[in-house]
Amino acid sequence: MYDITIIGAGITGSLIAHGLSKYDLKVLVLEKENDVAEGATGANSAMVHSGHDPKPDTLKCRYNVIGNRMYPELCKELQVDFLGIGAFVVATDDIEEEKLETLIRQCEERDIPFEVLSGDEARAIEPNLSDGVTKALSLPSTGIIMPFEVTIAAMEEAMLNGVELKLDYEVKKIDKQKDYFVINDEIETKVLINCAGAHCDDITNMLRTSPYKVITRKGEYFVLDHLEDYLHHVIYPTPSLKGKGVLAIPTVHGNIMLGPNSDETEDRDDDATGSGLDYIRKEINKTMKNVPFNKLIHTFAGLRPHIDLGDFYIKEDDVISNFIHVAGIESPGLTAAPAIAKDVINDIVMPKFADCKAKAEYVRRKPFIDMRHMSFEEKQKLVESDPDFGKIICRCEKISLGQIKDVIRRKCGATTIKGVKMRCRPGMGRCQGGFCEPEVLKILSEELHKDVTDIKLDRDGSNVLLASAKEEL
Ligand SMILES: Cc1cc2nc3c(=O)[nH]c(=O)nc-3n(C[C@H](O)[C@H](O)[C@H](O)COP(=O)(O)OP(=O)(O)OC[C@H]3O[C@@H](n4cnc5c(N)ncnc54)[C@H](O)[C@@H]3O)c2cc1C
Repeated sequence: MYDITIIGAGITGSLIAHGLSKYDLKVLVLEKENDVAEGATGANSAMVHSGHDPKPDTLKCRYNVIGNRMYPELCKELQVDFLGIGAFVVATDDIEEEKLETLIRQCEERDIPFEVLSGDEARAIEPNLSDGVTKALSLPSTGIIMPFEVTIAAMEEAMLNGVELKLDYEVKKIDKQKDYFVINDEIETKVLINCAGAHCDDITNMLRTSPYKVITRKGEYFVLDHLEDYLHHVIYPTPSLKGKGVLAIPTVHGNIMLGPNSDETEDRDDDATGSGLDYIRKEINKTMKNVPFNKLIHTFAGLRPHIDLGDFYIKEDDVISNFIHVAGIESPGLTAAPAIAKDVINDIVMPKFADCKAKAEYVRRKPFIDMRHMSFEEKQKLVESDPDFGKIICRCEKISLGQIKDVIRRKCGATTIKGVKMRCRPGMGRCQGGFCEPEVLKILSEELHKDVTDIKLDRDGSNVLLASAKEEL
């Protein structure tokens, strides 16, 4: 019998698991995909918003503001990147300038640092801002992260401290006994936490009629090549009824992302890109100029798990005790996740285990080996210790065999080509895996002792090689 089972290994499920791993508890995480961060957490703007934007008196507002303050420390603890690059919310006419006034008032009320700049002052800092920009609200506490990196690191450390993760495990049935739950007729748990993102209402409906319904909203993006000189801050337009609008976002690794749109979609797993990209191409010209679309290397889409109640829904169920909802976690869910995890653990879960103590010994994860920022001497020492670090597999991002083996061999390690890409970047560069993908496939096959035909690109059914050419003949 598990003490606690978490459904969903996105950022909320993983950070809750990470927090719980500090206590003497038997914790299990169930994830239907073959890796963590495969839902909304794997496809978004990757921003730690300042908290200037959510409606007052909502959970979104509360957790956004607190989560923003927690991120630098959390990323230090997990040894992952957090870059506090700041953002500009820009206005292009009188109506938008008036909207900026509301945001300024909200910053004052929420104790969020800000500065107001004229259009020319903003352009002096960001020369590629559109000439139409008349005013900018500078938000220095805005940051950028790699969301999957934070999630993978949190889960890795949770697992080093005893949390169990079952991948490829879809929750299809839940029965409530007197004081425990039975999942899929086989897993017993005292407490159940629903972090199932776009499927959180499906999970609740397995126990009772869900008080909320998910309406997924797709957001698409362009990814441009390394363009460190084009942009240094995140650029938001003034928000509209449809949300934060189309942004220009530098990434931790020096790429630029443009997007997202926001369009409702019936299919909760449909992450194909399409007409949203035309909209982004048009809208981005409102805030930016000289957009280098000739440097386009990738497009992707993510699905916001919006619920019809409008706000996050985070509480123990009104009817079924020990069933906890962490539902409707759309934007700013990434930012809010550390604060949500803290409250779920301290205010809802731990009071149920009043005698439980924090573990006396806690194991810290080692950071991923990142050769980008190493000096020549450091690299040389590493290669001397293991020649695999001298064999470059990804030519665009300069990722070595040693780095790839490291991310496969860890707890919560990579088992697919995308899993390797998300952890240490082969395939993220200009050629998008054209050169290195076959090599990564071969390394996965060797490291996991699997036939090459069993290695997947990402989700189930995405096997790259179906049979050897000889067999086919
Ligand atoms: C386009 C877009 C842009 C965004 N930009 C930002 C941003 O810049 N900043 C920000 O703060 N927030 C942003 N967000 C919001 C943020 O990405 C989400 O709030 C956050 O990732 C939600 O995390 P989660 O763990 O709750 O859900 P998810 O990441 O969706 O995880 C849920 C998990 O549950 C699993 N699951 C579902 N059903 C089952 C089942 N039956 N059995 C087992 N497992 C199951 C899924 O496979 C999935 O892995 C954005 C979202 C989108 C889509």
